[in-house]
Amino acid sequence: MKTKRVLLAGLFHETHTFLHHKTGLDEFRQGGLNIGHDVISQNTGNGSPTDGFLEYAQLRDWTVVPAIQMAANPSGMVAQEAVDLFNSHFFDVLEKESADLAGIFLILHGAMVSQDCDDVEGVLLRETHNRLHAKGIDIPVVAVIDFHANVTKDMTDFSTCLYSYRMNPHSDAREAAVHAAQRLEQLMDGRTASQHHLATAFVIPPTGLATAVNPMKAVQAKARAIEARDPDILCINVMGGYAYADIPDCGFSLNCCTSGDAETARGYLHNLLAEFEANVSHAYPTETSLESVLERVDAEPHGKGPVLLVEPADNIGGGTPGDGTGLLEPLLDTGRKNIVAIVNDPEAAAQCHASETGKTINLLIGAKTDEHHGKPMEFSGVVRHLSDGKFELENKQSHLASMMGTHIDMGPCAVLQNVQATVLLTSHKTPPMDLGQLHSQGISPENADFVIVKAAVSHKDAYDPIAAASYNVQSTGLCTSELTDLPYEKLTGKQISANV
Ligand SMILES: [Zn+2]
Repeated sequence: MKTKRVLLAGLFHETHTFLHHKTGLDEFRQGGLNIGHDVISQNTGNGSPTDGFLEYAQLRDWTVVPAIQMAANPSGMVAQEAVDLFNSHFFDVLEKESADLAGIFLILHGAMVSQDCDDVEGVLLRETHNRLHAKGIDIPVVAVIDFHANVTKDMTDFSTCLYSYRMNPHSDAREAAVHAAQRLEQLMDGRTASQHHLATAFVIPPTGLATAVNPMKAVQAKARAIEARDPDILCINVMGGYAYADIPDCGFSLNCCTSGDAETARGYLHNLLAEFEANVSHAYPTETSLESVLERVDAEPHGKGPVLLVEPADNIGGGTPGDGTGLLEPLLDTGRKNIVAIVNDPEAAAQCHASETGKTINLLIGAKTDEHHGKPMEFSGVVRHLSDGKFELENKQSHLASMMGTHIDMGPCAVLQNVQATVLLTSHKTPPMDLGQLHSQGISPENADFVIVKAAVSHKDAYDPIAAASYNVQSTGLCTSELTDLPYEKLTGKQISANV
């Protein structure tokens, strides 16, 4: 039997449209930009969704036709040249290969916005569909997408099956790609399916989207139960959405791919929306002032391990610069000690590298990217450690693997320490999703009293097990959970806070 030829490509970015700094080709080169056979060689065995697909393709003896794969850390609006580069390679391979393809598999995020386009993935899928249609080619187009995707009607209208991660933190990203590949196989073998999309009015901050708690826990459980009992269903996706994209399709949505009838599918989606609405009070968590948190920490004796001061306002996994000082500076001002923090500051890291370990230096650190994340602050300390910043994930199913694979490059790093705090300075902003980030630099967060974590939910698999307590603390930054503070213009008819 002739082996099936499957075109593989990836375009992965979660775009924070309120950040001024554009995401260009440099950011994609840092996160991963592979063309042709490199898409296979650079992803095989790296724990990413692409790796999951490649393993399944090998198992089934498919011939993978690699086009291009690009990924960058969440950050500001994507420069059009990055989308253009993807399109030129992707459509070139599609044009050359389409006559012999059995299917197309895409690794997408689903919340990508470029300078010219609010719905990069929708336009990509529509153009792909149109080109195939023009040639009279009818093959399945399947994409694995992130749980935080802002799914549009074009994305479901012009793909055959979308399959999203179920877990947040995304411990199942690679597994989701394998499940998506299984759906592709069924569709290539002749199963027919249609997709149904239900947009909702709800835009939810990242802190309200952990799948271990409601509302997402309840909605995911119900969706899995429907999938399990109805054999017509290929998948039901519960999409948390990504709040920091000022686009009309921002927010929580539901979709269903089924071989059954449309009415049943729509009924399921409305039942899931009702389940969400019954739990909506948990979707908009508030953050607590540092002062109140410290009062509670002092009043309530807690067990072994650090207190996590989670700083969602500068959530690196949500796109912000990771150099905010809005929490570190006031915490130091309280006189507290035994603090661990990570600040992305290539300039300060370089100044440490220009010194040497054991020397005391006085630096201005943090808040150098924009005016939204505090002010640069003086920090005087001993240079304890210098490195190239490369490390391997301790947890191969870390949320970080869904974005970057298991080998991470933080750029030149330095550890500065004084009587109050140990600060890791990085050169490439790196979301705090795996303890290898600190351990590789000689820092043991387990022994700290306070750890500042620039995240919302994605840190939980790594940090919650070592922590005595965890609080979401107010700070300044563009990943605030107070969405009403953001200057949205395109969210007509959407709900962005607990108060309707
Ligand atoms: Zn995500």
